[in-house]
Amino acid sequence: MIISKLPNVGTTIFTRMSQLAAETGALNLSQGFPDFDGPQALRDAVGRHIASGHNQYSPMTGLPALRTQVAAKIARSYGVHVDADTEVTITPGATQAIFCAIQAVIHAGDEVIVFDPCYDSYEPSVELAGGRCVHVQLGLDDFSIDWQKLTDALTPRTRMIILNTPHNPSGALISRAELDQLAALIADRDIYLISDEVYEHLVYDGVPHVSVLSHPELYHRAFVVSSFGKTYHVTGWKTGYVVAPPALTAELRKVHQYVSFCGVTPLQYALADYMAASPEHVEELPGFYQAKRDLFCDLLKPSRFTFTPVAGTYFQLVDYAHIRPDLNDVDMAVWLTREHGVATIPVSVFYQTPPEGQRLVRLCFAKREETLREAAEKLCVI
Ligand code: PMP
Ligand code: GLN
Repeated sequence: MIISKLPNVGTTIFTRMSQLAAETGALNLSQGFPDFDGPQALRDAVGRHIASGHNQYSPMTGLPALRTQVAAKIARSYGVHVDADTEVTITPGATQAIFCAIQAVIHAGDEVIVFDPCYDSYEPSVELAGGRCVHVQLGLDDFSIDWQKLTDALTPRTRMIILNTPHNPSGALISRAELDQLAALIADRDIYLISDEVYEHLVYDGVPHVSVLSHPELYHRAFVVSSFGKTYHVTGWKTGYVVAPPALTAELRKVHQYVSFCGVTPLQYALADYMAASPEHVEELPGFYQAKRDLFCDLLKPSRFTFTPVAGTYFQLVDYAHIRPDLNDVDMAVWLTREHGVATIPVSVFYQTPPEGQRLVRLCFAKREETLREAAEKLCVI
């Protein structure tokens, strides 16, 4: 008999909904990925590097040229200097980065605070380290931190807090004032942070992303994680990075070198070339995705879904309480896929205890204009 280490884990909602979309021929606005390609020059560079023989292991810590580009981008975006050699590590995706950061510092019996709705990979990673997640619910209306709940959740065993800003699935951003408040709350405690900032460049309406990298008090205890997959429209490349102070980076690398050793070499070369040649790519991203958000929200206005345009990420939450209040969100997602040809993600799966009566599904708007128009047409007749 197998004694499972993850008895409560099944197949993720992203796999399930993408599969159902494929089976039924529905438009797939569920799992988060673009239905358009990343920049041509970036894709061409991969072929060039494969052809020119960049096909063996890269350094365990990541290609120096790419780590240098990451540090340069951080300096431009957040005005802070990080050391490319001792603070930046390239990983095969943000998921692996988060896993390694957790394994690096969480011991058996440690508690890790996560905010619900919470991205699905955090809890299994904590459990595999022998830790336990303590779930703190974000505000129901604006998905902001409930400071009383967070304070109440802290115990002497709390070893880590996982932040995610911009937040999947709500799109909410953490402000500088909130980071200050967090810093004050944990000032005298031995608590690490993971700041999952994979959507760092997908922020709208001129509101800047506030990175933990730009908050020295928090950064000295943090692993800040990002993903080239989101930033360069290439989620299938599974290439990301972690930035952490040298002592934490050293511990992270001890794990990373045995989980995967290094990232995929030609992809790292291509990303380094492209980042050097096109630094404007990240500056143009907010405008690029804001246009998609605005188009999609405009198209959805005549529908019976209710929503507030998101502040960040490429996900839009919509409330269907006026349409099928009788259905829970998992059934609603299946119904929308089968009966109306649009696959979505139910929000309750991101909660330990889903809020009573919440009727929300998540739609990914990282799609071509024609996909968004077609999806909105289907959603407006329900
Ligand atoms: N964190 C969040 C919040 C995400 O939405 C994703 C999406 N894939 C990841 C981490 C993982 O990123 P990657 O694909 O680079 O592993
Ligand atoms: N991050 C993506 C999302 O939220 C899913 C990635 C995955 O399928 N693991 O949709």
